[in-house]
Amino acid sequence: KDVTKIVVVGGGAGGLSVASQLEHNFKSKGDIVIIEPSDKHYYQPLWTLVGGGIFSRKDSEKDEKDCIPKGTTWMKDSVTQFKPEDNIVLTKDGKQVDYDYLVVATGLAIHWDKVKGLKENLGKNGVTSNYSYDSCEKTFDFIKSMKPGNTAIFTFPNTGIKCGGAPQKIMWLADDYFRRQGMANKINIQFNTAGVSMFAVKKYSDALDTMAKEKGITQNFKYNLIEIKGDAKEAIFETPEGNKTVKYDMIHVTPPMGAPDVIKNSPLADPASGFVNVNKETLQHVKYDNVFSLGDSSNLPTSKTAAAITSQAPVLVSNLISHKMGLPLKAKYDGYTSCPITTSYNKLILAEFKYGNEVAESLPWDQSKESYFPMFLKKYVFPFAYWNGMLNGHWFGKNLLLNPVETPKINK
Ligand code: FAD
Repeated sequence: KDVTKIVVVGGGAGGLSVASQLEHNFKSKGDIVIIEPSDKHYYQPLWTLVGGGIFSRKDSEKDEKDCIPKGTTWMKDSVTQFKPEDNIVLTKDGKQVDYDYLVVATGLAIHWDKVKGLKENLGKNGVTSNYSYDSCEKTFDFIKSMKPGNTAIFTFPNTGIKCGGAPQKIMWLADDYFRRQGMANKINIQFNTAGVSMFAVKKYSDALDTMAKEKGITQNFKYNLIEIKGDAKEAIFETPEGNKTVKYDMIHVTPPMGAPDVIKNSPLADPASGFVNVNKETLQHVKYDNVFSLGDSSNLPTSKTAAAITSQAPVLVSNLISHKMGLPLKAKYDGYTSCPITTSYNKLILAEFKYGNEVAESLPWDQSKESYFPMFLKKYVFPFAYWNGMLNGHWFGKNLLLNPVETPKINK
């Protein structure tokens, strides 16, 4: 057979990046099918800036049909079952789709229902979240409504999440907004996190910790949000000293997240996390060698971001092609990820790191210090690069337009 059939499950940041890069390599030798149920595609990193009132949520959205890479086929459907032993997936519309290679990029699942009262109150009673297109605009409405003496709470759950910085990015934007309205230190801002520090990487965590103290932000560690009583505007946290009820005027919730059921309940799952069980360097499944995964649905032990995908996609593509050609899988992902932590309306701390939380900075200065240039990147360059470069396979993150990964030629 001279055409290789590759099924990509999920047409988000990871799925489309990989599908385009596969298409550039396989051309007429590949039949690339993307299974994606949604009519819309979102640039989720913008939701932080939408919550801060800098952009409208419409700026984060495009029609999926306009994002599907040329030369690939979109199947508007969703996968309900993976059967890797038979090289097929089953879909909601009752189809059975076979493949030579499978790439899983379904993203993660957000468990809105795991915090009692959250779903019912989202978007009202001061309860908001940037983790959804529906509510991210509400965040700015609630920020604007704060008055001296009010309490604004920002939470971080007791699960892994996508973009580990996002729960606090919006807090720093809110703090800057209050200062610009002449309410510096007049709002009681609390960062109530289930974690034990401000950030996973010590260098950035220390900088953020100092900043919180300077700006009078209360840090409550080991505070896990379990319930919201919308009418009373009360949030209940599990803490080592027992449950605590805190009154709020606005609360930005980062909900618990985890592996989607369709993966968790499949043979592809890592029993510990429920995410797709891949080799952390090659991105190949540990058991099924024609299955690969990247992005939020994989169990890669790094922070789940779109920036990480810019490094993962070329590695996955190179290794999938090597496997097809019968060559050793030489490309290796080093865990690179990046998190632009907006610390005000015009500055940010650009955290960049790899496996083992090892700092891996690209700019010629200490990135734990707030600076203007990366905020310019976050507001204008990254969104442009995402829509015009990443989704069509030409943007390689910190390597800009240069693919750093050697990829074998397809000659069979
Ligand atoms: P997604 O982009 O979520 O795409 C998954 C796709 O799979 C979706 O289109 C979905 O419809 C589809 N799907 C789901 N289930 C199925 C199924 N069963 N069958 C078929 N298709 C399915 N990253 C950064 O790099 N920098 C940032 O500053 C940043 N900030 C963020 C701020 C917020 C508020 C949020 C929410 C995210 C942020 N991120 C950031 C993270 C980034 O958006 C994600 O890591 C990235 O989108 C992950 O890409 P993905 O392809 O794995 O998943």
